[in-house]
Amino acid sequence: MNDMTPTLFDFDVETGASKTAEPIARPLSTLKGYFADEDAFNAAVTEDDAMVYEYFDMGVPETSGNVAYGTTRIRPGKIGEEYYMTKGHFHTVLDTAEVYYCLSGNGGMMMETPEGKVEWREMKKGDAVYVPGRWAHRSINISDSEDFVMFFAFPGHAGHDYGTIETKGFRKLLVERDGKPTLIDNPRWQG
Ligand code: ZN
Repeated sequence: MNDMTPTLFDFDVETGASKTAEPIARPLSTLKGYFADEDAFNAAVTEDDAMVYEYFDMGVPETSGNVAYGTTRIRPGKIGEEYYMTKGHFHTVLDTAEVYYCLSGNGGMMMETPEGKVEWREMKKGDAVYVPGRWAHRSINISDSEDFVMFFAFPGHAGHDYGTIETKGFRKLLVERDGKPTLIDNPRWQG
C-alpha cells in the first residue's frame, strides 16, 4: 500500500530550499578524503569549515512504487584545482536510474560504471541528465561565483552506496586547468 497523498511542493530555484524540509549539510569537514589534494583540503578546513553542499530529501517512503525527490545545492569553490562536488554514490539497488534537472548555475554530472566507463555531462539552467542504472554519479559545480542547484528524482527503493566511492573515489577528477574544466585520471584510484 502507498500512503502518500498528492502533494504540492515548492523549491527555490536559486537555493534549492524547500519550506517543508530541513537541509542536510555537507561542510568541508564531512568530506575528508574525497578531494585529491589533501594538503589543500587540510589548509582549507582549518581556515574555514565552509559549506560545500546541502540537499533536501523530502522523506518519501523507500519503496519501489515511490519516487524519491529533492534538490541539491553545491556552492562555488575549489580544493586545490578540484571543483567543489558531492560525495557521489552508486545506488544500492545498482540497476536503478535517476534524473537531475538544473534549476540554476553551471556544473555537471560525473558518472562511471563498475566496468570502467566514464562520462561527464556539463549542465546549465534548463538542462537535465538521465543517469541510467549501474552508473555512479557525482554533481560538480564548475562556476567560480554561482551556486549549482538541481532537482533530482529516483526510485524510492534505490538506496545509496557511498562506501565504494569513499574507498576508491571516481576514476576521473574534474579540475580547472587554464581556466577550463578538465577531466584527468585520479592518481589515487585503485582498481
Ligand atoms: Zn543517486
